[in-house]
Amino acid sequence: MSSSVALRLPSIDGLLRHPACAPLAERYGRDSLLTGLRQLLDELRPGVLSGQLAAVEIGPEVLAGRVGERLAQQQRSQVRRVFNLTGTVLHTNLGRALLPEEAIEAVQMAARYPLNLEFDLASGKRGDRDDLIEGLIRELTGTEAVTVVNNNAAAVLLTLNSLGARKEGIISRGELIEIGGAFRIPDIMARAGVRLHEVGTTNRTHARDYQAAIGPRSGLIMRVHASNYSIEGFTARVATAELAELAHAHGLPLLEDLGSGSLLDLTRWGLPAEPTVRQALLDGADIVTFSGDKLLGGPQAGLIVGRKELIAKIKKNPLKRALRVDKLTLAALEAVLGLYRDPDRLAERLPSLRLLTRPQAEIHAQAVRLQPLLADVLGEVWQVSAVEALGMIGSGSQPVARLPSAALCCRPQVSKRWRGRYLLNLEAALRGLPIPVLGRIGDDALWLDLRQLDDEPAWLAQLPQLQVDR
Ligand SMILES: *Cc1c(COP(=O)(O)O)cnc(C)c1O
Repeated sequence: MSSSVALRLPSIDGLLRHPACAPLAERYGRDSLLTGLRQLLDELRPGVLSGQLAAVEIGPEVLAGRVGERLAQQQRSQVRRVFNLTGTVLHTNLGRALLPEEAIEAVQMAARYPLNLEFDLASGKRGDRDDLIEGLIRELTGTEAVTVVNNNAAAVLLTLNSLGARKEGIISRGELIEIGGAFRIPDIMARAGVRLHEVGTTNRTHARDYQAAIGPRSGLIMRVHASNYSIEGFTARVATAELAELAHAHGLPLLEDLGSGSLLDLTRWGLPAEPTVRQALLDGADIVTFSGDKLLGGPQAGLIVGRKELIAKIKKNPLKRALRVDKLTLAALEAVLGLYRDPDRLAERLPSLRLLTRPQAEIHAQAVRLQPLLADVLGEVWQVSAVEALGMIGSGSQPVARLPSAALCCRPQVSKRWRGRYLLNLEAALRGLPIPVLGRIGDDALWLDLRQLDDEPAWLAQLPQLQVDR
């Protein structure tokens, strides 16, 4: 290195005193700024020593600018809002149901102030957090009692462990399902300490199969909603009422994991029929479990309803304490359940139901309106069209049912061998927007299903920033 061009990095102290760094110290704190500057100088030192960096690259203003960018990046939250234009409404990876305003207000209240989480205001004595929603759940499902846990997977685990540990759980081979991630009924049963006794076949299970399995080691009969797959053709399954009769004749409880479950008959809104919690109980299921954030449209939670003495047993299980819900969830859940008291207005007030029931014509009109704007931003290489599309409910509700919807369909006008790359680049560019936009690739096109594009102004405002690599 020749001494005539020897560069020296500015000193930390000098930088800290420099006017360009003062606003950064103010904004991010002196410690963060110091750490950021140290890191940056450490990274630049080899370049300076080897003479690869020019003086302008290590000026105080330049360094302050670079540190500022990094600190801004670091400060940006990892939990980020996105636009879910995938066509799947209750998308597990995107947080499932959106909460109604009533629930958001309840969460804010619960976050901000002390509350009667486990305190009975009438008697002044210790209360039970389940009591806060028990009345509502009773009214809405006809159950005797309820307990709430972290999610439906926890509800199934806790119920199985409480009622069937060291005994056999009888279940049809057609219901030994896996629900994404690591939730497989046989594994959960094993972890709950219940010995799996599978009966019947994948496509057909009869009452006599259950009957033959019942013996001195039996602890319970379980039924699981197939959720994310459907068996069609030569099939047979025993009705819940018949299975309940069989279970009760042998003194066994019947558990029904409804998965999504629904509190109301969804066909009233033109949606595919989904078993209701009330009907499962009427049919004789002793315990019914279901999710809070699937079709119910509330926060993540697992609801366990059914016979009082069984619920009492479940609540005594020490695992209950490990799986219980927090105050924010309970506050949101109560508010959501409250909306179910007025089914006539539910589709206006509950976001998931409102989105699920948006008419195709309305979504299509939106697509037609936005088509020229997106086409303009994407340029000639892309053919953008407003088309009809099929979405789905998601989260294991009605896996084969499709929601008639509309989408912006983006097709790259390039030869077949380049299409894949163009599509991935567009997908990445949409993901890189300040509010990432998530669509889906299929059939040589990128589809933006507009069923869930509520906040059109925010979506449009960031459109000019879209830059797609070629
Ligand atoms: C979704 C689902 C679960 C798991 O529910 P989470 O609330 O996601 O834990 C369990 N059983 C069935 C049948 C399901 O569909």
